Amino acid sequence: MIEEKEINEIRQNADIVEIISSYMPLTQKGKNYFGVCPFHDDHHPSMVVSPEKQIFNCFTCKTGGNVFNFVMKYENVNYGEAIKIVADKIGMSLSINKFSYGNNKKYQQEFDMMKLVKNFYVNNLNTSLGLNAKKYLMNRGFNEEIISIFNIGFSLNDNHSLSQFLESNKIEINEMDKLGLINKSGIDIYDVFVNRIMIPLCDGDGNVVGFTGRIFNNEDSAKYLNTKETIIFKKSNLLFNYYLAKNEIRNCKKVIIVEGNMDAIKMYASGIKNVIALMGTALTREQIAMIKKFRCPVILMLDNDDAGYEATIKNGDLLSQNGMSVDVVRLNGAKDPDEYLEKLGVDALKEAINHPIKYLDFKINDAKRDLNLNSPEELSTFVKKIISFLKYYDNLTKEITINKICSDYHIDISILQKEMAKSPPIKEEEKPKTIIKKTKYDILANYILYYMMNDEIYLKIYKKELGYLEKHEDKALEDRIEAFYKEKIGHSLSDFISYCQNNEELINKVLEIINDCGDETLDEEKYYFYLSNMKKVINDQDVKELLEKIKQETDVNKKIKLMQKLTNLKKGSVENG
Ligand code: ZN
Repeated sequence: MIEEKEINEIRQNADIVEIISSYMPLTQKGKNYFGVCPFHDDHHPSMVVSPEKQIFNCFTCKTGGNVFNFVMKYENVNYGEAIKIVADKIGMSLSINKFSYGNNKKYQQEFDMMKLVKNFYVNNLNTSLGLNAKKYLMNRGFNEEIISIFNIGFSLNDNHSLSQFLESNKIEINEMDKLGLINKSGIDIYDVFVNRIMIPLCDGDGNVVGFTGRIFNNEDSAKYLNTKETIIFKKSNLLFNYYLAKNEIRNCKKVIIVEGNMDAIKMYASGIKNVIALMGTALTREQIAMIKKFRCPVILMLDNDDAGYEATIKNGDLLSQNGMSVDVVRLNGAKDPDEYLEKLGVDALKEAINHPIKYLDFKINDAKRDLNLNSPEELSTFVKKIISFLKYYDNLTKEITINKICSDYHIDISILQKEMAKSPPIKEEEKPKTIIKKTKYDILANYILYYMMNDEIYLKIYKKELGYLEKHEDKALEDRIEAFYKEKIGHSLSDFISYCQNNEELINKVLEIINDCGDETLDEEKYYFYLSNMKKVINDQDVKELLEKIKQETDVNKKIKLMQKLTNLKKGSVENG
């Protein structure tokens, strides 16, 4: 755990302009710096970096925060890792190397329990009961090192061994059930995984969230069994080996996608570490977003069978449509990378990876399949297929491809160009923007909170002049600001952002406020104006509520009392106004 003090020291020594400049060019305009935002498809410099406030902010995609938020987002790392990267860049060393800061603490208890389960399975594999499983692994080319890197374990051939073990660790049955470790049948419970080789599945921070259990003897049961969906295990949000591979992918700027866990494990162990495996046949939106964050080319190297071929097309389309550069490797002479390594060795596999084909070429070949291009009708089908796919590519690629097809098949280029014109380029998917109209109260509250986050003096003025905000979320943020100054953790907006990092709801609110008010130059006179306006807004709201109450009240005496209250309120409102 890194201490708050240390985090602020790093942040105060790291100039946000300098750090962001190491990733992308920035141009100075006035007191701020501008750049083309890397977090959305941007062509104009919509990202502004303020050296004075030590924050960045994109006006289009609303990404913002301090230097750590930028690095987190750009490098696709968690908060602790971002601190380490920034510390490295400015040549500061951290007092500790273990990073737990910024991990998803919300499910810490569940993560701890899964870790316990993982350790149980790992231990089983090293007992005499795990001998056959281990023998099987060794025969399949595993060694102690791989087993230990991937924390491979074994679930005993006994329906109750895990549940009994967890019970002895004071873990309740409904907890086990919640994490998909047991099946219930009436009052009986059974372990989900029995007599299987166990491979842990980790989230992006390396927490074990589920397992794949693989049979290793020839019994009549499913070859693979995965943990069911739980609060921490969402298959659509995971990619196998993502946690181990992510640094390597960032280093070599290339990500290899394979089909099976075994392929990824074997490749990683052979030194090809920038590899992740699918968790199903087609990539989900969340998984594509995870891959896209690397901002590097993708190599699809799926199984050498019909299903693998289909999956290559499906995922190649998905990735291309999402603007990623996609290459394809089809392995000859083996059914998957695992077998390829076994038969032909790591050098041959590396050679194959270094000579991929462009997905567009793969797609063109696929479009030709089963077509007789000597027939004008079938040639036309082929051309239409290609043209409809080309809309996902830039103009240069389009032109080169069309020229190539024309010369290969002796087609008059004007015919293709005419066909192209019928298929307009797709505009970037327009997200339905939900415009939440902000009330006067919301706008004022944001400005008041913004001032308070910037300087303690504004908190003091607020306490004297207004003292309360109506909405619960605003109140919560105000409390946090107060605690921040009280604990003397820092004194700038940027320090405050770090201080809120552990609370997702709060940090989102802070970033939203920065987006709304980040342009404002702090001015005491203006601040008083916001406060007095706010007083009026709150008062008017109170008057309105009271009028409603009076209308509904049937008891005459109570009604009179409410009327008196109303008179006082109105007086207050006049005084304020
Ligand atoms: Zn942006």
